[in-house]
Amino acid sequence: MNINSVINQGSKILKSKFIPHAQLDAEILMAKTINKDRSYILINSNINLNKKNINNFYNLINERCLGNPIAYLTNKKFFWNSEFYVSKNTLIPRPDTELIVENALSLTKQKNKINILDIGVGSGCILLSILKERENVFGTGIDISKKCLDITELNAIKLKVVSRVKLYKSDVDKFNLGKYDLIVSNPPYIKKCKLKYLEKDVVNFEPTLALDGGLDGLSEIRKVIKKASELIKKNGKFILEIGFDQKNRVINLLKKKGFYINSMQKDLAKNDRCIVSTKI
Ligand code: GLN
Repeated sequence: MNINSVINQGSKILKSKFIPHAQLDAEILMAKTINKDRSYILINSNINLNKKNINNFYNLINERCLGNPIAYLTNKKFFWNSEFYVSKNTLIPRPDTELIVENALSLTKQKNKINILDIGVGSGCILLSILKERENVFGTGIDISKKCLDITELNAIKLKVVSRVKLYKSDVDKFNLGKYDLIVSNPPYIKKCKLKYLEKDVVNFEPTLALDGGLDGLSEIRKVIKKASELIKKNGKFILEIGFDQKNRVINLLKKKGFYINSMQKDLAKNDRCIVSTKI
């Protein structure tokens, strides 16, 4: 069977399980199977596939039918300006989180040395995207998951910024190293009782550790704000991603810890998502 007919078969299977973007997903999974990019498979759609490739392709299709996200099946996700390696141990980078990068880049235009701390660095997508565009920026990333740190390091090597990155496995409350000009964080902020209502692809496959914000959704955010207030330099900036209904409560927490609120941005779905503040 040739590439085209196997893709069409795969796409039909995905559609029958109500997977959105079935044709696109089937094409991406075919590209992954034969280790080529999507344009190759579209141009060479009449090439015949061997049995092993056909089997591998249908295995990926079955995984996708169960809800396993494309990013985990291909170990890739594009974020800001780069492609990141991702695995089931890291959250899949979201377009919403690019707001943090956008803000960080506009705050780091000067040429002097800048130290950034990323609390809960995950795949490294925030910290490394900033480092890639700003040669004067040095980054520290902490995470409670050693597996995430290994992935951040791999991505730092891929993006050629590893010489400017330090990574530490640590709980947010136990980390006490350094003083920072800029602190960024996308902590877990979903209420524990709401986790089960997230999309199946998210709740069944993405790491709960990166999503679970405790009973009121703010338990990690509280720790992150407290730590940021201790490790940030005077007049340093703090950029934080929050849940859609957390704006007022988070602003109060920030003010209590001595932060002045500079701005608040909405994501593409018009939900309050990103807060920029200054330590005064
Ligand atoms: N924005 C993510 C989601 O809705 C949650 C990310 C997080 O908890 N930091 O799935």
